[in-house]
Amino acid sequence: MADIIKLLPDHVANQIAAGEVVQRPASVVKELMENAIDAGATSIKLIIKDGGKTLIQVVDDGVGMSETDARLSFERHATSKISSAQDLFNLETKGFRGEALASIAAIAHVDMQTRTSSQELGTHIKIEGSKIVSQDVVAVPQGTSIAVKNLFFNIPARRNFLKSNQVELRHITDEFHRVAMVHPDIEFHFYNNGSEIFNLPSTKHRQRIVHIFGSKMEHRLVPVNEETEVVKISGFICKPEFAKKSRGEQFFFANNRYIKSPYLHHAVVAAFEGLIKSDTYPGYFLFLEVDPSSIDINIHPTKTEVKFDDENTLYAILRSTIKHSLGQFNVAPVLDFDHDPNLDTPYAYKEKGAVIPKVTVDATFNPFQETPVKKSGGNGFRKQNAKGWEDLYEGLGNQSDHSGFSSVIIESESEEQGTLYSGGEVEEHLASTFQLRRKYVVSTVKSGMLVIHQNRAHERILFEKFLGEITVKEGISQQLLFPLELTFNKQELAVLREIKESLTNIGFAFQGLEEETVKVTGVPMMVPESGIGMVLDRLISDYMEGYEDGSISQAEMLAKALSRNLAVRTGDVLDQESQLALVNNLFACKEPSLSPFQKITYTIISEGDIDKKFN
Ligand code: ADP
Ligand code: MG
Repeated sequence: MADIIKLLPDHVANQIAAGEVVQRPASVVKELMENAIDAGATSIKLIIKDGGKTLIQVVDDGVGMSETDARLSFERHATSKISSAQDLFNLETKGFRGEALASIAAIAHVDMQTRTSSQELGTHIKIEGSKIVSQDVVAVPQGTSIAVKNLFFNIPARRNFLKSNQVELRHITDEFHRVAMVHPDIEFHFYNNGSEIFNLPSTKHRQRIVHIFGSKMEHRLVPVNEETEVVKISGFICKPEFAKKSRGEQFFFANNRYIKSPYLHHAVVAAFEGLIKSDTYPGYFLFLEVDPSSIDINIHPTKTEVKFDDENTLYAILRSTIKHSLGQFNVAPVLDFDHDPNLDTPYAYKEKGAVIPKVTVDATFNPFQETPVKKSGGNGFRKQNAKGWEDLYEGLGNQSDHSGFSSVIIESESEEQGTLYSGGEVEEHLASTFQLRRKYVVSTVKSGMLVIHQNRAHERILFEKFLGEITVKEGISQQLLFPLELTFNKQELAVLREIKESLTNIGFAFQGLEEETVKVTGVPMMVPESGIGMVLDRLISDYMEGYEDGSISQAEMLAKALSRNLAVRTGDVLDQESQLALVNNLFACKEPSLSPFQKITYTIISEGDIDKKFN
């Protein structure tokens, strides 16, 4: 048989490598910005057009390249940063593979201008799909400017795979933040479609974070500092009360590189235990410095996972350092590190405590009553304190013989709601309802007992309501007597502008979406005035998290986020009227059985199942 193995031509090899290095415009941004930092730049400009699809340009004032270096820089494995394998264990630079420029040049039109301090004139090189199309001398300032145009022009499949400009811009912005955050001494400018979206002067870490995330960060940050033999930790955590429902403001950097580490994240969360609700995440910006030989960053170029030699020790140090900071700055109730956090009252419970006085009670339900209670009477239980009530409910599950379920009678009493359940299994007459453990709304139906998960059911109801309103623009707005001023950072503002129309459709009204301070002049009927800021904050972060998933529409994403944030929660007390409304509205939904997040909203425990319990 004839020989069949051939060496791939360079441009093909480069294209293959590019598949690994360049996944989307944000990867190019990362590589170019890192090169600029490695070149010792003091000022870096990032210029983006159309989410990076048309243009990504990085201009720096670093050391620049000689004519030969400028040409060589586009060769694969061409790097000035390491010369032996040993160097890999002592990396001071961000790049070292010599792959990035070669890869980028293989899949885009690249235009580079560069000059070193010792040259009078610089070099201008144009490359398209790995081929040099021109090279001239040019008068330019010292430093390097690399413009990457028409990314993936020669790989249509990859180009088509890119998300919308807004989504790509957000990935770029994330990357920009990560790089800018570790180099506060470097000045950064970021232009998108001709307008400057970030202007970050040279400063210190704290101010850099504030410049990126907005002035409201200023009073949220608590410093963290610790130096041990294994690791030096510095940076900031956000005060527990600003923990968010969604991830976003969590950053680890190891030796000045952004890293992801679920394990270390856990260490931070563990330090916050008892101070934040279990479904919220604390914000943090933590810079770890470890011996370069104790960390393996020689991993895939686009991956951010790292391997530390002694993760367990790192975990313990991190956790106690953060506890210490929380204690020192009086944000934790105790300074005692060995203290058992389980003994603390979690915030969640403290808040719930405040709800207790509002307890309303279904007067028609009394598990110990021999005979059915009339709706008008029997309110003796109102005198009980809430704890007493909980005790009563607690026993309910295993109480095997009480006649409290006066189901037959109550069921037959309520004829007027006969039309509620249409079709399917639930074709029944609605009886009275009661709330079980502030979590379920229970009612009877012909085939047995209907148990509704109050939170999920309400999510379904609100989801369908908002989805309708967003599309048909019929939300009712409640005008605020005194417009509310809220502060947002640039990214949040960008999202607000993006979703403004939908928000207006459901009843929000805004003024001044250009500035950090936004005036809210109207809100949907459902949103309490005191909760506007929180609802918008969560909406924005939910929306940002959802952007990854290109498969659902903006309307659906918003309706989901709104329903999640406005629905009654487990633990909320519902009065009789609300319970009934919940049942009615749920079964008026198009898809009553699932929450917008595909969780079951109700179940029916059949009479047969109940009968079995009595056998
Ligand atoms: P790496 O960064 O891994 O060395 P790159 O392909 O990113 O590989 O860059 C190749 C080489 O080009 C670098 O090692 C560096 O010498 C040079 N280079 C790239 N960008 C710049 C820049 N902005 N300023 C000066 N030199 C640069
Ligand atoms: Mg590089």
